Amino acid sequence: LLDQLLARQERRESAARTYARTLPVAPVRALGAQVVGADGRTYLDCLSGAGTLALGHNHPEVVAAIRADLDSGVPLHALDMITPQKDAFSEELLTRLPGSLRGEARLHFCGPAGTDAVEAAIKLAQAATGRRGVVAFSGAYHGMTVGASAVSGPARMRSTVGADALPVTRIPFPYAYRCPFGVGAPQSGELSARLLENFLTDPSSGAGEPAAVILEVVQGEGGVIEGPDSWLREVRRITEERGIVLIVDEVQTGVGRTGHFWACERAGVTPDVLVASKAVGGGLPLAVLAYRPELDQWLPGDHTGTFRGNTLAMTAGRVTLRTVAEEQLPERAAKLGERLRLSLRQLADDNARLGDVRGRGLMNGVELVDPDAAPDRIGSRPADPVFARRLRAACLRQGLMLELGGRSDSVLRLLPPLVVTDTELDSVLERIAAALRDAER
Ligand code: PMP
Repeated sequence: LLDQLLARQERRESAARTYARTLPVAPVRALGAQVVGADGRTYLDCLSGAGTLALGHNHPEVVAAIRADLDSGVPLHALDMITPQKDAFSEELLTRLPGSLRGEARLHFCGPAGTDAVEAAIKLAQAATGRRGVVAFSGAYHGMTVGASAVSGPARMRSTVGADALPVTRIPFPYAYRCPFGVGAPQSGELSARLLENFLTDPSSGAGEPAAVILEVVQGEGGVIEGPDSWLREVRRITEERGIVLIVDEVQTGVGRTGHFWACERAGVTPDVLVASKAVGGGLPLAVLAYRPELDQWLPGDHTGTFRGNTLAMTAGRVTLRTVAEEQLPERAAKLGERLRLSLRQLADDNARLGDVRGRGLMNGVELVDPDAAPDRIGSRPADPVFARRLRAACLRQGLMLELGGRSDSVLRLLPPLVVTDTELDSVLERIAAALRDAER
C-alpha cells in the first residue's frame, strides 16, 4: 500500500513537495507522539506537524471538543462573524498573552497559515506607521508568501519571488556557533543589536525609518538558534525608542514549546505584534495576530479573507491553550528539554560529528559537522549536510520521524509533542544513537 500511495503521489503532486520526499511515510493513524504508517510500522514523531501538535496527535480532549461541535450543528465556517467558539477562543488566548498584551490586545484572525499572519503583521505595521520598510534577521523563516519570504533568510527563497517586493534590511542574527563576528553568545547578541541601532541611526544608509522589525526569538527552520535574552531586550529598547513596530513571530515557538508559554517571556519582552499559528489552532488551521490596540489603524476591509478562523480550529485551539497552561506543559517542556540536551551532549562528547547541541524547551537541534575539517577561530567546524541527510534516513529506519533545518540543512531538529512521555524520549535518544552508528557505517 505504501509503495502504491507514494507512486501515485509522485505522478500527481508538485515537484515542490518536501516532507513527502524526506519522510516517505503514509500516516494512517496517530496518537500522542506515535504515528502508524501504511507499512504497519509505528514511528515516534519528533516533527509534530512542523511544531503544530503541542498536545500530540488526537489528544482525547481536543477530539472530544471537536466532536461535540460537530454533533451540535455549529456552522463550520462563518467568515469573520462572531461565534461562541470564536468568543471562547479569544477569551482563552487573551488570558495567555504575554505582558501588557494580556487581556488588552486587539486580535486579528487571518488566513489560516503562519505565512498569512506574517503578511498581515507587516501590513498592519505599515498602516500604523505610514512607512514601508522592514528589518529582518539573517537566516529567519517567516513563510512562503511574497512578503513573508522577502523577510526570510535563505536567498534561495527570495529569488523565486523577487527581492524587491518589500524594502528589507537584513541584520545578522546572533548565531553564536557560527557568529559572523567570530565571537560567542552573548557578545554576538550585543553586536547584532548594535548593528541594528547603527543602521537605524545612520542616515547614509538611505533606506529611511522602517515600519517594523520582525524576528523569531528562537529561529526554527533557520537551525534552532536562540537569540540571547540581552539581545531581545536591546532590540525592544531600540524599536521602542524609535517608534518602530516590533513583530515577534511565535508561530513555531509559541504555546509552550520553548519552556515558556511564549518564547519572548523569558527575556521579559512584550512585542507590539505577536504572530501565532501552528499550535495555537490545536492541529487545525488557524492564525492570529495579537497587538497593541493603538496600532489598530485599519479600516473595515483593509485586510480580509474568506478563511479567518474555522470554528473547529477555534475549539481545538481553545482546548489546546487551556490544557498547555493547566497541565503546566511549558515547565514540562523545559525539564524534558534539559534532559534531552544533556543526553545529546553526552553523545556529542563521543562523536565529533555532533558539532553543536542546542535549543530551548522541546525545540532542539544538533548541528552536524565534518569532524575531519579544521575548526575555525571560535572552534566550529564546517557543516556536513551530506551526513545530515544520511542520519535523517537512518533515523527513519529506526522509526524516528524528524527533519533537518539550518542554513545548510545540516541541523537535525527535534520537535516532539509537549506530551511526549519519559519512556518515549528515552527511546528517541536510543534511536538517534543507533541511527548514528548506522549512518556512519
Ligand atoms: N514563521 C515561523 C517561525 C515558522 O516556523 C513558520 C513555518 N515553519 C512560518 C512562519 C510559516 O508558517 P506556515 O507554514 O503555516 O505558513
